[in-house]
Amino acid sequence: MQKVVIIGSGINGLSAAALLAKRGKSIVVLESSDKFGGAVRTEEITLPKYKHDLFATNLSLFAGGGVMALLKDDLIRNGLDFVPSAKPYCSIFPDGKIIGITMDRQVNIESLKKIVPADVESWKLLTEKLVRLSPHLFPILGTELPSLAAVRLLFKIWRALGTAEFFELIRLLLQSSRAFTDEYFVHPETKALAATWGMHLDYGPDISGGALFSFLESIGGQEFGMVLGKGGADTLINALVAVIRENGGEVIANSEVTEIELKNGKAVGVKTADGRIFDAKAVIANLNPSLIPNLLPSAEKTLPKISKIKNFRPGLGTMMIHLALSELPNWRATEARDFNYVHIGPYLDDMAMTYAVAAAGKLPKHPTLVIGQPTVSDPSRAPTGKHILWIQVRVLPLEITADESEEITGTNWDEVGEEYADRILNNIEVYAPGFKELILARKVLTPSDLERYNSNLIKGDSLGGSHHPAQFFFLRPIPGWTGHKSPIKNLYICGSGTWPGGGVGGGSGLMVSKLLSK
Ligand SMILES: Cc1cc2nc3c(=O)[nH]c(=O)nc-3n(C[C@H](O)[C@H](O)[C@H](O)COP(=O)(O)OP(=O)(O)OC[C@H]3O[C@@H](n4cnc5c(N)ncnc54)[C@H](O)[C@@H]3O)c2cc1C
Repeated sequence: MQKVVIIGSGINGLSAAALLAKRGKSIVVLESSDKFGGAVRTEEITLPKYKHDLFATNLSLFAGGGVMALLKDDLIRNGLDFVPSAKPYCSIFPDGKIIGITMDRQVNIESLKKIVPADVESWKLLTEKLVRLSPHLFPILGTELPSLAAVRLLFKIWRALGTAEFFELIRLLLQSSRAFTDEYFVHPETKALAATWGMHLDYGPDISGGALFSFLESIGGQEFGMVLGKGGADTLINALVAVIRENGGEVIANSEVTEIELKNGKAVGVKTADGRIFDAKAVIANLNPSLIPNLLPSAEKTLPKISKIKNFRPGLGTMMIHLALSELPNWRATEARDFNYVHIGPYLDDMAMTYAVAAAGKLPKHPTLVIGQPTVSDPSRAPTGKHILWIQVRVLPLEITADESEEITGTNWDEVGEEYADRILNNIEVYAPGFKELILARKVLTPSDLERYNSNLIKGDSLGGSHHPAQFFFLRPIPGWTGHKSPIKNLYICGSGTWPGGGVGGGSGLMVSKLLSK
């Protein structure tokens, strides 16, 4: 039986492989790295017994997504174990204020009343809005774009919501985080609480399209909480690999694909760096689409329909600082110790400045920080009484040209990484005095390190391509490459560079598996 060859073992490649293997297809997944999972990887990177998710931690998208619905029993039988968190996130501010969002609406209302009283009614209104819109919004994420099914779905949504609310929804999709938060909130803290979520997805507060994420993630945290992998996010990867293998599929590490073989313009197999050839009736590339021309014969890679993929732009860069801690930080806002994510924007204008500075190539003085405290809900990740913590620095230049503070002189991440990490730790001291004294060990992963671990993370872009509107929804990655098909026959694409974009959801793996099941 001719195989389906999948290049790359990211969440989407593995999801496609597991679903196709279960349907009886002959599958081989080839992974260039020594470990599977791409941007989902757990390692004792600081000290023994301290298990760090090097990249993604939050598995909520997968837990609530279509692949989980289809493979739940198989995955759980193969060891998948989730840890839910009812206290997903908070934002803290330089004056010691905190807004923490739990899964208890009433608890949230009481704390909002204390800190941002004028925004309580809007928070309730947005909660009702999400409850009303969720049944319409979430199915879009699971629908192929562009497609007839999507047109039918949009028509159904229009019928259900009516013209006025349907157009309001479109307006929300196009708004910036600033426009959205100005419309609903008065207090700078509430605006920051929501807008920080836009920064996760490469939306500075003034970029059109950021409102959707500010809305969905801020209120969604309250409605759906957060889900982590027990003992590390790789519980999910290990379970997917086991499901593929128990259904006869092969998943092979240390196997970099260097060529996609074509015959009469169709993909017929791949070649690896060590010269092995794998024939295939279909090839699925779980790759950042802009890397695909490198794997094609020179006659094809220069064709305009192929070479135009170079216009698919990365989002801004990300740095991860992993720490082993003797105890959780002594946040001035003491309740911050209870939350999985601690956001430090701190305010909307700071985020706007950070975004502009980073986009212009400068190292931001006070970048937006997403701080993960996984041991709050999963103590199994560190020895008893000890903790791990990660700091995700958002957003950073793709090429460093200068330093906003004019202190750091280097322009290469390998040179400046540790020095820049020192700046971040000093910034955190303001919010948690004595923080640095709690550090037992640290490991800094610069944007360049991210790309070294996984070539899909071009220049440290954690999203596999910016999510700005020109390359999102039915335009992802670019026209002519949509619908999880490349312009080459039998060469399919999945991964965060394709619809529905970044995140540990597996959605594009599911969609491409449907194409190959027909
Ligand atoms: C720091 C960071 C934090 C994040 N946090 C979260 C989070 O908490 N929650 C969330 O939902 N999302 C998060 N994300 C985003 C999410 O992790 C990614 O969008 C998602 O995991 C990408 O999956 P993918 O299917 O695109 O494949 P990838 O993870 O990009 O994996 C692709 C694989 O292909 C391999 N490969 C590349 N080229 C070749 C080749 N030529 N031959 C063979 N193999 C090859 C790579 O080595 C890699 O293993 C985060 C991302 C990063 C970087």
